[in-house]
Amino acid sequence: MSHKNFPMVPRVIFGRGSFNQLNEILAPKRLNIDAPFIFLIDDVFKGNTDLTSRISLSYDDRIIFISADEEPKTSQVDKLVEDIILNTKERPSGIIGIGGGTLLDLAKAVSIMLTNDGDSKSYQGWDLVKNPAVYHVGIPTISGTGAEVSRTTVLTGPDRKLGINSDYTPFDQVILDSDLTIGVPHEQWFYTGMDCYIHCIESLSGSYLNTFSQSYGDMAFELCQEVFLDNNLSEMESREKLMMASWHGGMSIAYSQVGVAHAMSYGLAYLLGTKHGIGNCLVFDHLEEFYPEGVKLFKQMKEKHNIILPKGICANLNDNDFDVMINIALGLTPLWENALGKNWQKIITKEKLKALYQKI
Ligand code: NAD
Ligand code: ZN
Repeated sequence: MSHKNFPMVPRVIFGRGSFNQLNEILAPKRLNIDAPFIFLIDDVFKGNTDLTSRISLSYDDRIIFISADEEPKTSQVDKLVEDIILNTKERPSGIIGIGGGTLLDLAKAVSIMLTNDGDSKSYQGWDLVKNPAVYHVGIPTISGTGAEVSRTTVLTGPDRKLGINSDYTPFDQVILDSDLTIGVPHEQWFYTGMDCYIHCIESLSGSYLNTFSQSYGDMAFELCQEVFLDNNLSEMESREKLMMASWHGGMSIAYSQVGVAHAMSYGLAYLLGTKHGIGNCLVFDHLEEFYPEGVKLFKQMKEKHNIILPKGICANLNDNDFDVMINIALGLTPLWENALGKNWQKIITKEKLKALYQKI
């Protein structure tokens, strides 16, 4: 068996107010005055001068505001890359993604596609990227996905929802400033936070578990319990802890894998556009059979934070719709193998998956 040689983010800065150091971090990375920095920023920050006034733009540097209402698509990445190429004199010095998983994944994908030919859909998969990406920086403004540390950028393409997994995907620099997460709406805080919690449960109970993954997973799990169940944390502590939980959760799955909730959530996302955080919650709520303790705790967290999940998401779907979701979910072999072991196909059948989807 060959062991994965996993690339990590080489530089990270942590702490409240660390965003103020962005300009000094970028300055030495400027290649020349014709090679700008491109900032891809979640459009919730449009008009938020507290954030944008702290970014100093020089020469041809540009801010592009992008909506996170929908998850990133391969066609969206290709358009952005074309726009950047057509409007810059030289290849950019760097791409800086500021936002949640959506913006972080877009920044990673754009930085890869600036140096690799063709369409982004042809790089969905494992280790298909040939050339190193443009220098790229990730600055999360909401915590949970682990996209800030991961080796993937998840894109929805014409045929599938699948990541560009490569050694060139991870950020060159990450800035973890928990003050940037102050404005996150309550429900979104919960859904994206639960993505991290579910990463822990799926990693820690999977057959791929190893000491590397467990050490990060245990830490993330503990932090999630503090953030979502402890009454004694200040909001500031809670924001910092969730940011670190996200990081550790991402590190845990880097060397193991996710499981049933993620496989099924990808099906929902592909067919209905259900977003990752809430999709995971919708599915996980019905997975007692696979994760009894994890689901019990999840329900406690839901109740404590007055989260009422939408119902009847799959009520009006026809057989063909169910087939589409089931095929997407079952196509994710490593996730099932991690969750249920080598003989997973004997345990999870199409009928069983359909029955689970029908509950959502
Ligand atoms: P998101 O980026 O989709 O953002 C969710 C919502 O929160 C958006 O409406 C956004 O505008 C808002 N928001 C973000 N920061 C805010 C702030 N500070 N104040 C107010 N509003 C704010 O959410 P997410 O859950 O972080 O990311 C989901 C995406 O991440 C999915 O596309 C999923 O596929 C991807 N993902 C990637 C990885 C990876 O390893 N690459 C892992 C998990 C998920
Ligand atoms: Zn996830």
